[in-house]
Formats: sequence, C-alpha cells, structure tokens
Amino acid sequence: MNNETSTITGAAAPEWRQIPGPVHCGRCSALLNGTAGSNCPQCELSLDWAELVPQEHICCLHCHYQLLGLREQRCPECGQEFD
Ligand SMILES: [Zn+2]
Ligand SMILES: [Zn+2]
Repeated sequence: MNNETSTITGAAAPEWRQIPGPVHCGRCSALLNGTAGSNCPQCELSLDWAELVPQEHICCLHCHYQLLGLREQRCPECGQEFD
C-alpha cells in the first residue's frame, strides 16, 4: 500500500483510521489526513509525523477509546490489539 514513487524518510505516515481529528501542515495548514508520504502534498514541507501526530492522539479502531499513554498494544476498553 506504500506509494512507491515517493521516498519515505523518517517516520512513516500514521494509520489515519486511528486518528480522531484533523492534522494540519505547520507551514501551509493543508489538511494532512490521508497523506501517505512524509511531505506535505501542498507545500512539500518535510513532515515529522511523530511530532504532528503524537501517540496519545491515537484511538482504538474498534471502539474509538483514546489510547492515551498506553504502553500496551491493546485497547483496555474492547481488547482490540494493534501492530
Ligand atoms: Zn504544507
Ligand atoms: Zn477499543
């Protein structure tokens, strides 16, 4: 599912289905949700996914429980496991 035409440097794009809210480019404010590469599709700014999409913003795919500060790869609410 990776776009083979773009070179992935740094962190991979997040699993967008797990991101509950909009993520915007810090330079041009483009909506980044769904972006597969590591650059802004509008202004080509190199994106730091780890900074733009902090781990605590990730929700369970199954029940949308916010996985805030969890160290386990597992939802405490519904038991769904993650990669
Ligand atoms: Zn941008
Ligand atoms: Zn869950």
